[in-house]
Amino acid sequence: MTTPVSKIVIAIDGHSSTGKSSFAKAIAAKAGYVYVDSGAMYRAVTLYGLQYGLISNDGKINTAALIAALPDIRIEFRNIDGQNVTFLQGVNVEHDIRGIRVSRQVSAVSAIAEVRTHLVHLQQLMGKDKGIVMDGRDIGTVVFPQAELKIFMTADPRVRAERRHRELVAKGGQVSLDETLRHILQRDYIDEHRAVTPLRKAGDALLLDNSHLTPADQMKWFEEIWEKYK
Ligand code: C5P
Repeated sequence: MTTPVSKIVIAIDGHSSTGKSSFAKAIAAKAGYVYVDSGAMYRAVTLYGLQYGLISNDGKINTAALIAALPDIRIEFRNIDGQNVTFLQGVNVEHDIRGIRVSRQVSAVSAIAEVRTHLVHLQQLMGKDKGIVMDGRDIGTVVFPQAELKIFMTADPRVRAERRHRELVAKGGQVSLDETLRHILQRDYIDEHRAVTPLRKAGDALLLDNSHLTPADQMKWFEEIWEKYK
């Protein structure tokens, strides 16, 4: 009789536009694990701030009021038709949290130490029974430093810009490739130089540079690793 291997925590971190969430979702499906998008939680707090006038459209944050509101902000993930959908105060906000208004302010909101402490605590509760794949910027370093499997994703900035640019153009966006590249480099800089828990690879994380990998190559890479855990 084989002993069932107990469930683990899989932490995925990395640079923006490296395909972290698609990869994390695919490996959660493969492992039969829950997938949690920690970025969606920072985005939901940002949307709440905009909706309740705690963040103005020109980016001024009423930090004290936002911190005081944290216990009232209800973020949930529900599975709708196989998709992981973000709810804020009981309302489906999956579309709104991906919009430009939120994208412009989320880095500033995620730099507030109290916001991070609050969300990290919620994320740790979500992972207490293991069997979870979480992606973000500080999952292997802060949220789950004991995670059994950590993966840090990166890719050449130009390759990331080309991928992101294709996506934006497909959605009808009119942005140039150079501008997309500038935006990517700027986000890398903000994430890596933030005073509170900047983005960095955990010492024990496996490095996945997907500059020259297709999604299928990437899955094959994971499947070989997963053999040791399943
Ligand atoms: O992953 P996504 O791009 O949706 O995350 C939105 C923003 O939230 C990131 O640019 C980053 O500033 C912040 N974030 C974070 N820590 C996480 C996840 C996201 O600071 N664990």
